[in-house]
Amino acid sequence: MALVRYCGGIEVSLSNKIILLDPVKKPCSKPDVIFVSHAHRDHYNISVLNRLRNIPLVVSRETYEFLKSKGLKHKNVVIPEEDYVEVNGVSFELHDANHILGSREVLINGEVAYTGDICFERRNMFKPPKVLKANTLIIEATYGSRLYIFPQRKLLYKWVLKKVINDYYEKDKAVVYARSPGVAQELLKLFSKLRVDIYLYKTVYEHTKLYMENGFKFENIKVVDSESSNGIFIYPIWYGKNDDGNGIFVTGWAAVEKDERFIPLSSHSGLNTLLSYVHNSSPEKVYTVYGFAREFASILKGLGYEASCIWI
Ligand SMILES: [Zn+2]
Repeated sequence: MALVRYCGGIEVSLSNKIILLDPVKKPCSKPDVIFVSHAHRDHYNISVLNRLRNIPLVVSRETYEFLKSKGLKHKNVVIPEEDYVEVNGVSFELHDANHILGSREVLINGEVAYTGDICFERRNMFKPPKVLKANTLIIEATYGSRLYIFPQRKLLYKWVLKKVINDYYEKDKAVVYARSPGVAQELLKLFSKLRVDIYLYKTVYEHTKLYMENGFKFENIKVVDSESSNGIFIYPIWYGKNDDGNGIFVTGWAAVEKDERFIPLSSHSGLNTLLSYVHNSSPEKVYTVYGFAREFASILKGLGYEASCIWI
């Protein structure tokens, strides 16, 4: 059975090898191989990866493109062909995680499954992920709380569209805040059918270009500048700190807000879908990580699973 702990990243000890998943700080032990599930800043750290530059780094091609654009200078990047590879005697089977461009869940040696960040809802891009069956499951718990059971996505799409169309016709302008890469590009696809100009904050535009280079089509998009006036504006979620009270916040965290400008559309699964993942995977041991990892582990224990939280 694998040993799993959190130390700078998720450290998996399996068959005398150490596999380090999504490192964000210096790890406690020197890993034999590293895996990065996707290019969100809470799942990688460029200087840590560059310091471990000679240790094989397994990533999807799209995640590698994101990391390269952020300054990755790793010397031993391994991009699995057809999403399968063996490195230093450890096998990696990658599957689409339906979270952002390039995001993957992974099955290691057929024994340990790690979801990374994952979304089970059917979205307007990507495919819903596969449930990985393994003895040991490491599952994200960003929204592993009773507070976060999200409405159906088609209802959330209607809600966002209604709000954006109302704002656009009343004020000639709709302002939306969403995480990029991720929900921002999902919204962009949703708004494409409205046939109005869509202005993107510069980093959202840069991320969107990578999506386009990987086969996604978006029309009528421009970078926000001082001349931009009429249209739909998409800013990263952090930019919402500048909001004047009219913007629309699209994020899972909105589930606990009462204002209709807060819409809980997320690129993560909510509690109910996380639970159904664990149920369908039926592992012997579950480790929870990120967000509400402690509450999620406690809910799982209450359901009879052997579950531990490895998140601080
Ligand atoms: Zn993420």
